[in-house]
Amino acid sequence: MGAVWHPECFCCNACKRPITDYEFSMQGNQPYHKSCYKELYHPRCDVCKQFIPTNSFGLIEYRAHPFWLQKYCPSHEHDGTPRCCSCERMEPREAQYISLDDGRKLCLECLDSAIMDTNECHPLHLDILEFYEGLNMKVKQQIPLLLVERQALNVAMEGEKNGIHHHLPETRGLCLSEEQTVSTILRRPIFGFGNRVVEMMTEPYKLIRRCEVTAILVLYGLPRLLTGSILAHEMMHAWLRLNGYSTLRPEVEEGICQVLAHMWLDSEIFSGSGSHIASSSSSSSSSTSSKKGTRSQFERKLGDFFKHQIESDTSAAYGDGFRVGNEAVLRYGLRQTLDHIKLTGSFPY
Ligand SMILES: [Zn+2]
Ligand SMILES: [Zn+2]
Ligand SMILES: [Zn+2]
Ligand SMILES: [Zn+2]
Repeated sequence: MGAVWHPECFCCNACKRPITDYEFSMQGNQPYHKSCYKELYHPRCDVCKQFIPTNSFGLIEYRAHPFWLQKYCPSHEHDGTPRCCSCERMEPREAQYISLDDGRKLCLECLDSAIMDTNECHPLHLDILEFYEGLNMKVKQQIPLLLVERQALNVAMEGEKNGIHHHLPETRGLCLSEEQTVSTILRRPIFGFGNRVVEMMTEPYKLIRRCEVTAILVLYGLPRLLTGSILAHEMMHAWLRLNGYSTLRPEVEEGICQVLAHMWLDSEIFSGSGSHIASSSSSSSSSTSSKKGTRSQFERKLGDFFKHQIESDTSAAYGDGFRVGNEAVLRYGLRQTLDHIKLTGSFPY
């Protein structure tokens, strides 16, 4: 310490009480009780709220989510602590996530703007159609949009003859071109004891092939912004098929679909950022705002997270495809990029 202290002045900088122990901690030339120091500076786990334990080398080791920065003991990765299927945050011990009946867990903040059944999705469907129209890419055909459970999505995936690219860790939307019967969610589930689904109403829906695309399926129970970005992605698959684009390489097809999903998120975040001035234009006032009118702080952050997920995706098709595609669209514009894809099957460089 290099200084001389009178015992009566040798007080802890946190609790101000005298330090009589032989062992104490120093920080910024100030002494602390060991326990006070730990309370102040030792990181606590956001999941179990305990001090993060030291590993076998005596170092404090923790994991942190790259976007939310939620930090937690490494053990929670294997001890069955659930993650929200939408925002990926781990369930803190004092919170209770809701359980969707297909095994997914959803945090309460994501639940807040979640779209739970096919009817609830209707205004969002119109928003996406309007978004495509605004890009001069009107989808003229009527394509049914169905909200489904995970199992129904997997069954439909198997019913498709043409290859479907799997998006890890989970496929959350599909653009179908076969005639199949799909189990769709008729009415939002009712949650009971322990935040579990106690009642759920589904209905078989027979798809009829009137054009290249028979339906778009999206997983239910996801926040509006995520549902919308999945829908914008699948709508782009539909648009490509309906506009005579031949089978594209996965990184080109998934890449350009992710570009559209990302563009839609951008437009939503932008239109929701100045909520008090956003409604000044009459043409878009009916559909730009979220379910509850103005967007919450959390929903905006969630929008940023979904963009971040698209941007940092490590897969070749979705991630690299998006980055190359986005670069091309920034440089040449969407129209020219699409024309180039139609002609050559690849992105312009
Ligand atoms: Zn103290
Ligand atoms: Zn912990
Ligand atoms: Zn969440
Ligand atoms: Zn896709």
